[in-house]
Amino acid sequence: MSFFEFKIEYESQESKARLGEIKTKHGKIKTPVFLPVATNASVKSLTSEDMNDLDAEILMANTYHLFLRPGLEVIKEFGGLHKFMNWKKPIMTDSGGFQAFSLGFGIEHGVGKISNIFPDEAKERPKPKGEKFAFVNDKGVTFYSPYDGKKILLTPELSIEIQETLGSDIMLVLDECTSPLNDYEYTLNSLKRTHKWAELCLKTKKTDQALFGIVQGGEYKDLREESAKFISSLDFDGIAIGGSLGKSKKDMHKILDWAIPLLNREKPRHLLGIGTVEDFFNCIERGIDSFDCVSPTRLARAGFLYIYPEDGGNVKNKFRIDIGKSIYKKDNSSISENCNCYTCKNYTKAYLRHLYMAKELSYYRLASIHNIHFFLNLIKDIRKAIKEENFLELKKIWLK
Ligand SMILES: [Zn+2]
Repeated sequence: MSFFEFKIEYESQESKARLGEIKTKHGKIKTPVFLPVATNASVKSLTSEDMNDLDAEILMANTYHLFLRPGLEVIKEFGGLHKFMNWKKPIMTDSGGFQAFSLGFGIEHGVGKISNIFPDEAKERPKPKGEKFAFVNDKGVTFYSPYDGKKILLTPELSIEIQETLGSDIMLVLDECTSPLNDYEYTLNSLKRTHKWAELCLKTKKTDQALFGIVQGGEYKDLREESAKFISSLDFDGIAIGGSLGKSKKDMHKILDWAIPLLNREKPRHLLGIGTVEDFFNCIERGIDSFDCVSPTRLARAGFLYIYPEDGGNVKNKFRIDIGKSIYKKDNSSISENCNCYTCKNYTKAYLRHLYMAKELSYYRLASIHNIHFFLNLIKDIRKAIKEENFLELKKIWLK
């Protein structure tokens, strides 16, 4: 049995959006929720206390990275990840499956998942060079450690054992995350493997940590439906939707519309690795309860700071400004007049631009605080709007 409870508190009349509450050993989480990503047991440039001050409800940590460094023996010594990183609220861990994609197939094909999964957004796609670091077969994913070159076979059983040692509140099954470039036959075979692994993960789990299954199936309707039904039929605490979500955001919405109606209504639904302003509105509207994405901190470090519609944020400028632009050189206003984060309360755009141009380390912290605050605040506003049956109206204001 898992120490986990999900209660639907309110279902929207105007859309499939819903409000819920997840109960874990480390506290309660209101849904919909956004999980900032603490890849190496830290949200980049921020401390656990910062995340607490920002009112983050739950963090996503990375199994693959923490397994390699600092290694399980260190985290075990501390009695788990919570104590190690001094974070008292819930943690979700991924399975390492995503690395099979990003470090193996992703490098091979020049596609990643997070900000660049959609080939039609090719402009944003990095051009990775290098050899293939990961191989997938029915047993698991074989990695070569980037630190010492050691060969590691990550099996579904090992992924669960690692996550049990990390002590996360919510674990994810090992899956194979296919690429938008995989054909039907590859995706079909991969799905069979992913489903077998899902059962193996359930069988391996010994603790009362929650375990979420993952729906895969690429952009193929029959495979997504099959996967949604299969994963829904197993005894998971929640369900994540992952993998290739098609070639455009439109495809992603289509995939969600295929899968979500087939999922158990009583279980929370997590969308893996997706998170833009538009995504929040479009996916919550379709019944998604939680998101994780590195984008707020990654974009902050690249100079992109989020702004509200009242500040001129819109779909076209992706709700962000580029602080490196010379127009901000003498700008004595905060990033947003409508933001009450620590950064906006204390610093001007001119100062932030200066820190950014000088590559001062404080820039990364201040920028990340603002962007994370923006994301968490937007989700709070969305929750309030759902409750007041005002969600579609809010969506219109933001996405007009
Ligand atoms: Zn701010």
